[in-house]
Amino acid sequence: MDITHFFTYVQQNLGSESQFIQISSTLIQINQVNFLIDTGLQGRTDIIYVLNKIRLSALDIHYVLNTHIHPDHYGGNRYFQNAEIYLSEEDYLFQRDFLHAIAQADLGQTEDAIKRFYPQFNPKQCLYFSRIAREMANLWENDGIGNAEQIHYIEEDWPFDFIEAMATPGHSFQHYCFKILAAKNPFLVTGDALSTKSAFQLNQLDFPYCYDAKAYLESQQQIGKFQGIIIPGHDYPFDTKTRQYIDNYTTEERSGVEFGDSET
Ligand SMILES: [Zn+2]
Repeated sequence: MDITHFFTYVQQNLGSESQFIQISSTLIQINQVNFLIDTGLQGRTDIIYVLNKIRLSALDIHYVLNTHIHPDHYGGNRYFQNAEIYLSEEDYLFQRDFLHAIAQADLGQTEDAIKRFYPQFNPKQCLYFSRIAREMANLWENDGIGNAEQIHYIEEDWPFDFIEAMATPGHSFQHYCFKILAAKNPFLVTGDALSTKSAFQLNQLDFPYCYDAKAYLESQQQIGKFQGIIIPGHDYPFDTKTRQYIDNYTTEERSGVEFGDSET
């Protein structure tokens, strides 16, 4: 089994400043079958470029798994036309219905629509989230997750015995972490249930816009018990024992850094 972690990058403008946000994707190769967990930002082909660097094309991916239906995690799904795609039906339906409601709301009603779907948000959070929600609603396409015949819902159908889908709600309505069991050293791909190493075992919110703060903290506790290598949604892989990034990641390498184990 080989496991490769990639970042794709998105530039975010915050007032006069701009910063790069790194987004994790994880490739698992086992017996010549290629699994890709999370596909980067919607509208960007970077994920194909990083795969090309290790001589894979989008069409070589057999399975796509999504941690959750936010546009920086499922965005490249439709490039993987040969893949069977596994994602949460609950998370998909929530995001679809939410963004339809935003698209249909008059501009002045955006915050009310947000409040209906995110009952825990205070007025300030609703106001701040409204611009992002509008942007997401503009980009939303019902088939952005892939073609209907490619889609499998994790809640109904999970055929992989060496990958455990762990329900970790809170960051989004439903969210899954993927625990890779066959590796000598187990790996946990956490998406945004744990977005960075600094949030590990911290038991604090690491995002201001959690769907459900209590559920998020419970999911964090579940992740906090894991021992092995964690691949966060927006950070380098790290070892839970040493709490250090694993060795290969000390360089400025921007994508395509590889590690693995050779058990299989
Ligand atoms: Zn994210």
